[in-house]
Order: sequence, then structure tokens, then C-alpha cells
Amino acid sequence: LGSRVFHPEDTIVKTPHNKIGGHNFTVMAGPCSVENEAMIQDLAVQVKAAGATVLRGGAFKPRTSPYDFQGLGETGLSYLRKAADATGLDVITEVMSPEQIPMMLPYTDIFQIGARNMQNFALLKAVGQTNKPVALKRGLAATVDEMLNAAEYIASQGNLQIILIERGIRSFDDKYSRNVLDVGAIPILQKLSHYPVLVDPSHAAGHADLVPIYGQAGVAAGAQGMIVEVHQNPSQAWSDAAQQLTPGTFKQMVVTTAKIHDLL
Ligand code: PEP
Ligand code: MN
Repeated sequence: LGSRVFHPEDTIVKTPHNKIGGHNFTVMAGPCSVENEAMIQDLAVQVKAAGATVLRGGAFKPRTSPYDFQGLGETGLSYLRKAADATGLDVITEVMSPEQIPMMLPYTDIFQIGARNMQNFALLKAVGQTNKPVALKRGLAATVDEMLNAAEYIASQGNLQIILIERGIRSFDDKYSRNVLDVGAIPILQKLSHYPVLVDPSHAAGHADLVPIYGQAGVAAGAQGMIVEVHQNPSQAWSDAAQQLTPGTFKQMVVTTAKIHDLL
């Protein structure tokens, strides 16, 4: 179902405020985690002013340690929805289990499947049974074929509104970069499938100074948009503090990447 061979045209993923894919360039931005109502409201205004049209923010966080902040849950989703509605943005947020889906439907416009759940087949089938777009992140060490098969689990249930996100893969040297951004996978995913492919430079780089450059590389490789973590006070963030951009840096990054996209 996902193969370019049987479906040559680009899939355009439609949300209330966006058409994602084809020649469009879509910017999604917001904090790693929704921390409180005021911060997400303020960030919605700031990322929108910088050019984002989708607001991100985690309410259910897949943290490495069970003792780290796990997200605000449904309360966080309600803050996210309110902030997006007040600014005219769409919402993307991570779903971690099939049981969460019915509760999340009124709050989100796009279900994000995190890297750690790329091969959670029960979750993939469950989002495949909804009529909301699904953004599938590449698994921590997933091959291109494993990612495309994961997308096929979603499509097999009738939902072809799928976005693929290259967010870096694990390699042996994670001292300076959190993951290795596989820019080469972007045109390969676009050649093999008809889905839009976005780049997540934040989780690839893991360090704020590298994020704009990784984003530029992803867009130069053909990514049809990007998802970027932005926080008012990155060093104080409750998750992913090292990689979040200030709204000012993010704004500059959007200008540069949009220019690169326009050249292609
Ligand atoms: C996130 O988007 O905050 C996240 C946890 O990303 P990933 O699943 O790519 O690690
Ligand atoms: Mn994060």
C-alpha cells in the first residue's frame, strides 16, 4: 500500500490547517514536553510567529528512566489543544499505547509514534484504525525496510495518511551527536514510498548548536518539512534540555531552511 510502484503520486496528508507533502514545506515545533499551561500558550504564539503551522508537545513521554518526568497526561493534552486553537495551529503529540487513543482523539490532529514504538505492532494497527494522520518516527536502530513495514502495518488497517520522520539512528559514536542523522534515507524513503518525509534534527543532534545545521541538511536532502523542539528556557526543560532551541534561534532556522527548500 505504501509503495511508489503502485501509487506514483505523492500522498498529501491533510489536517485542519495543513497539507503536508508534495512540494509543501511544513514546520512543526514546540517543547519536548508540555510542562504547564502558560509555557505552551506562549510557545504556540512564538513558534507560529516564526512560521510553524503545527504545535508539538509531549504529554506521554517515553523516558529512559521510570523516575524521570513522564508527562502531564490528559491535562497536558488539554493545554496543548487550547494553545493550538487559540493560535490556529494543528496539534501533534505522541501516543504510547492503544488504550490512550479514544481519549486522545479530541485533543490531537496527528498521532506521533515515537522511535521506541516504531515496531509496536498493536499500536500501529490501532492508529491505523483511526481517521487521523499518523507521524511515524524511525526506530532507534531501524532499517529503511523495517520502517516501511511499520508504515505498512498502519496502512493495512485502512489509514494511508502517514508521515515518515527521519530522527537519526544509533551508532557507535554518540559522544558528540546523540544519533546519526541518516540524510541519505530521506530520498530513499521518498523513492520507495509516496508518503511525506520530514526531518527531526532535534532528536538526531541532541545538542542545540547542531540542530539548525542538521535541519538544513535534512531539508537539502529533500525533507518536506521538519519537527523541531523549542523551549523558552532550554536549560531548565523537564526533558531533552540540551537540544531544545530558543524561539529566536528557531526563527532564524526557519528562514534558512525555507530558503533551502525554495531552491529545490
Ligand atoms: C519526542 O519527539 O520527544 C521523542 C521522544 O522523539 P523520539 O521518539 O524520536 O525519540
Ligand atoms: Mn524530546
